[in-house]
Amino acid sequence: MNCIKKVFIMFNRNKSTLGIMDDLQIAIHSYDGCSKGCSGCLVDTHFKNERFKPILTSDQMQHIHMRVLEYYEWCKTNLNMKSDGYFGKNGFKINHFSYTFRFGNHSELSLEQLQEISSIMAAPYQVFSTAPTEEIEKFHQLSLNNINTSYFLEIIYDPIHDSAYLIRDMILKMRNFNILGYPEILITQRLLNEFPDPNVFVEKCLMPFGDIETQVQFGRYTPSKTRNFNKKQMVMVDDEVTWLAGVAQSILKHKLKIHPIPIAEYAVTLLDEYEEKNHLSDIIENKNLDHLQYKETDFPIKEVMSKTKDIFLSSLYIDHHLDLYIWSESMGQHVLDHNFGFEKLGNILLFSISEIISNKNNILDKMLKQNIQQLIKNPKCSGCSYKSFCSSHAIGFFRKFQEDDGKYCYGYLPVIREFQKDPEFLQMMIDGFKQLKF
Ligand code: SF4
Repeated sequence: MNCIKKVFIMFNRNKSTLGIMDDLQIAIHSYDGCSKGCSGCLVDTHFKNERFKPILTSDQMQHIHMRVLEYYEWCKTNLNMKSDGYFGKNGFKINHFSYTFRFGNHSELSLEQLQEISSIMAAPYQVFSTAPTEEIEKFHQLSLNNINTSYFLEIIYDPIHDSAYLIRDMILKMRNFNILGYPEILITQRLLNEFPDPNVFVEKCLMPFGDIETQVQFGRYTPSKTRNFNKKQMVMVDDEVTWLAGVAQSILKHKLKIHPIPIAEYAVTLLDEYEEKNHLSDIIENKNLDHLQYKETDFPIKEVMSKTKDIFLSSLYIDHHLDLYIWSESMGQHVLDHNFGFEKLGNILLFSISEIISNKNNILDKMLKQNIQQLIKNPKCSGCSYKSFCSSHAIGFFRKFQEDDGKYCYGYLPVIREFQKDPEFLQMMIDGFKQLKF
């Protein structure tokens, strides 16, 4: 009982953005150049070799920014004012917008090129993807030139090739300049072959920065068109879940001060919103919790679809053709674009974003239906009480390349359970999100 009482006190989410969407986040295909060869690299092979040159022209960037600004206004007067769904009069609100510039090593660009991107697509928050680099000074200068923008770096970290100590130095150096950021790790077959023992992986690849309180993102590898939909690096769901559960145990055993996203965020969401805090002692004692998962409940399809739609609408991707796609904030933060075999929602050259998503029979609504139908029809999901949770994470689309018809599913529950066993660890993560502000 003590533990349960502790959770109620410890899970103070005041001013923390963990598990809360209040940002209109737009990913932009701005640069793909990179000299590295990370296993499971997803950047477009053509643009990867177009080094030192941004993909978008100034005119394209201006046009994108015009469309995003008008959509941001539309969100404030429409999404924020609805009476149902995730956003609305009585729900969460979109309070700001951000750009995430992807997917290549933006530190290869000159300060002038970065400045052009940053100033044309001005936003309160900007995230740049980068390889591990010592060139932090460039981003520092960028932040001095644009004092109204907070900068973040997504560091693509390949533990097979990159030094964890370089990641540590980079993050600490960034913090000196008020730039936040975190490493992202793609889970590939090659990574698992190199580090079959999750404990060895944690000790070698995470522990060197395990005392500096940083987020670390784990992403699932997905085959892409640019690599001929090659499945060689794809990890079987059961293997991935088992390995990640081992990683979680080791992180907790070593009391590392890192915030594993998104999976440990999900642990908080299920404890709080799904009231699993009432079962915490069973979770800690490794009791069988199938009754929580496989519990036939009323599934309010309309309500879930409305919430999922809102979440999709606040997370979009615009590519170099100015085609618009959904960007799913789930394992791996996939942009659901042409490269991963998804249809564009429309093109923003001639139409505004709000026109594209409001059209009758639009692609977004079609995708929403597919996502929900996947969950309703899937033998594992149909009777599961986490369908609404998995719907908002676009789980239905994960199955495009691999079915989770083995022991585990894309809900990653055994991994979530490990993190749920340590509420203090989760509270540290919740507090860490307070610094992020978006
Ligand atoms: S994918 Fe989600 S909804 Fe389906 S069985 Fe797993 S936890 Fe339940």
